[in-house]
Amino acid sequence: MTSDNRLDLEFAYTSHDDSCKDLYSPYYYCRRPRGHDGVHAAGFGSSRLRWDHRADHPPRMLS
Ligand SMILES: [Zn+2]
Repeated sequence: MTSDNRLDLEFAYTSHDDSCKDLYSPYYYCRRPRGHDGVHAAGFGSSRLRWDHRADHPPRMLS
């Protein structure tokens, strides 16, 4: 289970360098800790996004 409250905490305690960074779009990337379980997620409140990892959509590092 990945609740919104849990995600808020993960985002708050995960620095940019330590985040997963799986790209959802050019504007959204996963803010969860690198190596996390389950779905990728980005955004806050009503703009929260979740997406499953896709084998044909490999992670790209932004840095
Ligand atoms: Zn992720």
